[in-house]
Amino acid sequence: MALAFDEYGRPFIIIKEQEQKTRLRGLDAQKANISAGRSVARILRTSLGPKGMDKMLSSPDGDVTITNDGATILEQMDVDNQIAKLMVELSRSQDYEIGDGTTGVVVMAGSLLEQAEKLLERGIHPIRIAEGYELASRIAVEHLERIAHKFEFGENNIESLVQTCMTTLSSKIVNRCKRQLAEISVKAVLAVADLERKDVNLDLIKVDGKVGGKLEDTELIYGIVVDKDMSHPQMPKQIQDANIAILTCPFEPPKPKTKHKVDIDTVEKFEALRRQEHQYFDDMVQQCKDVGATLVICQWGFDDEANHLLMHRNLPAVRWVGGVELELIAIATGGRIVPRFQELTAEKLGKAGLVREKSFGTTKDRMLYIEHCANSRAVTVFIRGGNKMMIEETKRSIHDALCVARNLIRNNSIVYGGGSAEIACSIAVEAAADRYPGVEQYAIRAFADALDAIPMALAENSGLQPIETLSAVKSQQIKIPTRVMQENNPHCGIDCNDVGTTDMREQNVFETLIGKQQQVLLATQVVKMILKIDDVISAAEF
Ligand code: ADP
Repeated sequence: MALAFDEYGRPFIIIKEQEQKTRLRGLDAQKANISAGRSVARILRTSLGPKGMDKMLSSPDGDVTITNDGATILEQMDVDNQIAKLMVELSRSQDYEIGDGTTGVVVMAGSLLEQAEKLLERGIHPIRIAEGYELASRIAVEHLERIAHKFEFGENNIESLVQTCMTTLSSKIVNRCKRQLAEISVKAVLAVADLERKDVNLDLIKVDGKVGGKLEDTELIYGIVVDKDMSHPQMPKQIQDANIAILTCPFEPPKPKTKHKVDIDTVEKFEALRRQEHQYFDDMVQQCKDVGATLVICQWGFDDEANHLLMHRNLPAVRWVGGVELELIAIATGGRIVPRFQELTAEKLGKAGLVREKSFGTTKDRMLYIEHCANSRAVTVFIRGGNKMMIEETKRSIHDALCVARNLIRNNSIVYGGGSAEIACSIAVEAAADRYPGVEQYAIRAFADALDAIPMALAENSGLQPIETLSAVKSQQIKIPTRVMQENNPHCGIDCNDVGTTDMREQNVFETLIGKQQQVLLATQVVKMILKIDDVISAAEF
């Protein structure tokens, strides 16, 4: 619609003709939507798995991101098409709920769409396809439950958790250090986990990084790391059993503001003012000391004179600490943030076993480590790496690993990776198809074929012959009954790293059961939604 004026200045509205809207209906609409969805999936397909490729994305202002994480790739892509946006949403929901498997879910949805297209061409109604997919997804989810294993773990037996996190990390850029990073992630999650309630508050884990050093130098700190240093270079670099005053009020003498007028016309008056200021600050320092503080952390700054006095009075201080960090420090040390200086009391002080300043490299980069805190539930994963891109990618990978560990604490069931779970489901769904007399049967078979897309993509990305490899593994799954599973062996997957065995149990490639189930459910939901759209009306562009 547009507003125009006639020759007398009266307004009128011009409504565009209906014909000028672009409109797609029926099969055309479905086909266009399917092809949009598939093109997004095609982009991610090559990054799936341990040998998957990375993508380089550059933002309009020139920032470069190199990543392998499905959610991040789609997040940073400038997507215009509505259906493509649905796929972005899909990987985002997987990221939100589970945290890992964001590439897999999109690849699965893409292949479900591909199969649906074939069925549409054969004249099967989209609703029947949607129904068949729904049935098949339920069969797959139940089958996953059947082939899942329970992992036992405890404070001292974290190996199983570490192995599962390693599977997640093995397909990331940081896979060189996967063992170390997986251990760090598991320890971090266990440090903040509530094992009775089976829940983990990931907000208590701060993931921070600083350019420099090697990836191997990445460490887990049972406490907080703040990118600040002591306000004076001669203050002690290490404080044992620190009592910390956490201030969000100014820690300096009151400054004469421009609004006030101070008449100073003699040297004596100036001296008096200075003395008074000095005395005022001295009293503040004394008050801190009286309540027993051995370290002051302030949100605000103080000037050099105050700094000097602090050093002189032997009260170490840190200035300009951000609000979020201040909160974390308060949580970790069990202290209270003091917004008014008068309210400072001994109970409000935070306690930390050790506060130390650590310097890095040849630069004057220093950071403050606050460790062995009273309430050690807040921890920090401190990442080191050659450049900013590496650190950012490591942060994303650690996020995935943390999510996997958290999911295992919530539900300690796992399925085997490397496409083995998908192949097992595919076989189960295919077998179940015959039980349905209706047209859904075709859709159920198509679903089984679509599940094969994951192992095929894994094989293709590892430089193997996709169809040959898949059929070999599938026949292995069907043929070899194991002691545990009397019928099929659902542990055979794609040997991406050329280890020599396709048994994913031997290769220690695990994924969480809830992650895999969520992938199947979310992908089916989105595909059903896309199939049910038969009319696309978009406003014409002028
Ligand atoms: P996502 O973002 O979906 O997690 P990834 O690129 O991390 O995607 O790839 C995960 C897939 O790679 C899973 O299917 C997993 O089973 C598989 N995978 C991971 N490590 C291995 C391995 N060592 N051998 C075979 N497959 C693996």
